[in-house]
Amino acid sequence: MRALRRFTVRAQLPGPLAPLQTLATNLRWTWHAPTRDLFASLEPQAWDDCGQDPVRLLGEIPTARLAELATDDALTARVAECAADLQRYLDEPRWYQEQDGAGLPGAIGYFSMEFGVSEVLPNYSGGLGVLAGDHLKAASDLGVPLVAVGLLYRSGYFRQSLSLDGWQLEHYPAIDPQGLPLQLLTGDDGAPVLIEVAMPGDRTLSARIWLARVGRVPLLLLDTDIEENTAENSGGTSGGSSDGTDLRGVTDRLYGGDQNHRIQQEILIGVGGVRAVRAFCRVTGHPAPEVFHTNEGHAGFLGLERIRELCTGSAVASNGAGPSSSSPATVSGAGLDFDEALAAVRAGTVFTTHTPVPAGIDRFGLGLVRHYLTDRLLPGLPVERVLALGAEDDPEMFNMAHMGLRLAQRANGVSKLHGIVSRGMFGGMWAGFDQEEVPIGSVTNGVHGNTWEAGQVADVLGAPESTPAEVSDADLWSLRNTLRSRLVDEVRRRVRAAWLERGASEPELGWTDHVFDPDVLTVGFARRVPTYKRLTLMLRDPDRLRGLLLDPQRPVQLIVAGKSHPADDGGKALIQQIVRFADDAGVRHRIVFLPDYDMSMARYLYWGCDVWLNNPLRPLEACGTSGMKSALNGGLNLSIRDGWWDEFYDGRNGWAIPTADGVEDPTRRDDLEANALYELIATQVGPAFYDRIDGVPPRWVEMVRHTLTTLRPKVQATRMVREYVQDWYAPAGRAAATAAADDYAAARDIAQYRARLNKAWNHVRITGVDASGLPDTPVVGSPMTVRAGVDLAGLDPSDVTVEAVVGRVDDADELADSITAAMTHSGDGSWEVAVPLPHAGLTGYTVRVLPQHPHLASSVELGRIVLAG
Ligand SMILES: *Cc1c(COP(=O)(O)O)cnc(C)c1O
Repeated sequence: MRALRRFTVRAQLPGPLAPLQTLATNLRWTWHAPTRDLFASLEPQAWDDCGQDPVRLLGEIPTARLAELATDDALTARVAECAADLQRYLDEPRWYQEQDGAGLPGAIGYFSMEFGVSEVLPNYSGGLGVLAGDHLKAASDLGVPLVAVGLLYRSGYFRQSLSLDGWQLEHYPAIDPQGLPLQLLTGDDGAPVLIEVAMPGDRTLSARIWLARVGRVPLLLLDTDIEENTAENSGGTSGGSSDGTDLRGVTDRLYGGDQNHRIQQEILIGVGGVRAVRAFCRVTGHPAPEVFHTNEGHAGFLGLERIRELCTGSAVASNGAGPSSSSPATVSGAGLDFDEALAAVRAGTVFTTHTPVPAGIDRFGLGLVRHYLTDRLLPGLPVERVLALGAEDDPEMFNMAHMGLRLAQRANGVSKLHGIVSRGMFGGMWAGFDQEEVPIGSVTNGVHGNTWEAGQVADVLGAPESTPAEVSDADLWSLRNTLRSRLVDEVRRRVRAAWLERGASEPELGWTDHVFDPDVLTVGFARRVPTYKRLTLMLRDPDRLRGLLLDPQRPVQLIVAGKSHPADDGGKALIQQIVRFADDAGVRHRIVFLPDYDMSMARYLYWGCDVWLNNPLRPLEACGTSGMKSALNGGLNLSIRDGWWDEFYDGRNGWAIPTADGVEDPTRRDDLEANALYELIATQVGPAFYDRIDGVPPRWVEMVRHTLTTLRPKVQATRMVREYVQDWYAPAGRAAATAAADDYAAARDIAQYRARLNKAWNHVRITGVDASGLPDTPVVGSPMTVRAGVDLAGLDPSDVTVEAVVGRVDDADELADSITAAMTHSGDGSWEVAVPLPHAGLTGYTVRVLPQHPHLASSVELGRIVLAG
């Protein structure tokens, strides 16, 4: 019989086992091995059967068995110990608390469309989500007071399987939040707290708030699958009206649906997300965030809601706690105008872009944005001002990344190279400035060590900061062998399961017991399948690949995995090419495509692969993090110098596949790069792995040792989060505090300043420039006096900085390697400065006028510049 509905009942645990409930619902177990071991030991078979998910496990163990376990003194002592350890972890001062705290924000809101914390909470599609999950875990370990906000998807991202002919099939298992490590946020009256956002057609979208605990970090997940959102309850003309979509479905799936669906999701996470944070703070007494971090453009509407709060000065009602302008979680300082509020919001906002290509940016048609951003949604905000925040080259489009940059005083990309790419890509917003000056910095991503490192690595090597110098070559090699061998077991298990799913029968599958070899050089390639990642580059010359796999002396075995976006048939065709190649009986023992790449599979690959292969089209990989996870375990990267590898490759920690960057013809470029890849494997990677002395490959082990010594500390997410705290959150917190002090005096001041600037700027002119004071034959260091006249069009000299720019010039008089020197004002409208000549050779100079104000992060920030000439 088939059930009509299903739901999850949580176990009632006998007294001494009661702390297991807390241990199961705080996701810290996902990176705390002793707690995981404790759960596994309760019922080892059931633990594996339920996918190593503690909440499910507790539901599976029969009540009688629980009663029996509760009498096991050794077990209950371990339960108590783990519970005490968790409590300590949650309460004790950690790194953040030990900073001499002046000016560190009391809380930081972190908004992301996806969070990959663990496979038991399947709320991510790929790198962006896993990175956000690692960010939360590292923040928790460091004691950084984040409050994270996302959406709870009814069917997360899809599960992938294969048809018999190798075509990707998707299915979307529905999740039941009651069966997840989540707790419903309820108000003082015990009823679920609901937040609301207005939708077009007089409708209202409501969401309840699920709370996940990621160690010390609360993660709020908004869920619209509630009665209140059925067409007849959500207001407007009842069901079947123009856009009478069932609003319950807004959080049905990650990145699902059409533009309407997406903008609804983005309004919910942005506007609704801020309202959820306010409700959470009211209900729990948690301090209100002083800084907001927008992880990629999707959640950018959060800035609009914060502007609205400052303009109208009230939190929008949510039930359960009610609006209360006196509570500390509510923003005070009502009555700012749009520009004043914008200044205050910008001061406390950090925006991170993850996209190196314009096509990857979220954009909406202006009409659609107008339709949704109504006065009901954001009362009091002038719609034209709002639309201007998302303006881009195409006057009909609204650009979420541009809005992100305009709503944040601080912005960054996710690797040094991606910082450069982003400064180029968004440089148009700072027209007239050199690309290096575009105010977008970078923080190179990191990965959470305790999540991605095999337990044995820490057993052998100790903490990431310790050096593996004392560990012998033989022991390091044996560690690698152990990890590879575990991966081979997992590959066999998964290959068999995948073939059963494709329709094979048990008796046909004897061969799967012998796929892969624990002693063969193992290469991994696993990632999503957008075109730029070039899944099939390795198939460029199939005979060559076959030769490498079947080499009698130095064979290679290759694991490939990855999901294609459901709507991307091109990506699915690439997967099919790989699957067809791997299905061939002549090679299938040496190459596999493993379906359903996710965190639970990825872990085995990062642990066990000897080589992590990455061959994107440079520079389209913003950072990439999978290679970092491999490096944590002593895997060697074999990669195009893109993303993180561009800055971390040092010649001894792996190999750089030469990139044919300048080659315009994509086919030829692929040929060149594939050829270089085969060559590297045949002449460098293979020999280093297979040349042995007493069974140990000395060159290989040296590279593993070097990787573990130098990369393991640097790729940690704690390194990344520390950088965010020191270079981004702390200054943003100080700027936000300054902006808000004395009833937002500074915010008002800068708004007035910007208004003055707007009026005058187009009339500001440099009226004359000359240089003097040089000897007949100038040498490097000779002082040159630059003088300029400037018509300030009514601005005060203190409103601007006038700079001399001196540097090398090329034939077109373009300045390069230039230095800038601020000129001093001499009363009669003229400005001057003496600059020592910086370079030998052809030198040029010019003069420019920029805005200057104590509350700007820099004079570049506003994108205003007047150049001489
Ligand atoms: C780390 C990780 C990613 C991101 O890897 P990239 O190198 O950025 O492609 C994607 N999916 C999973 C499951 C991961 O663990």
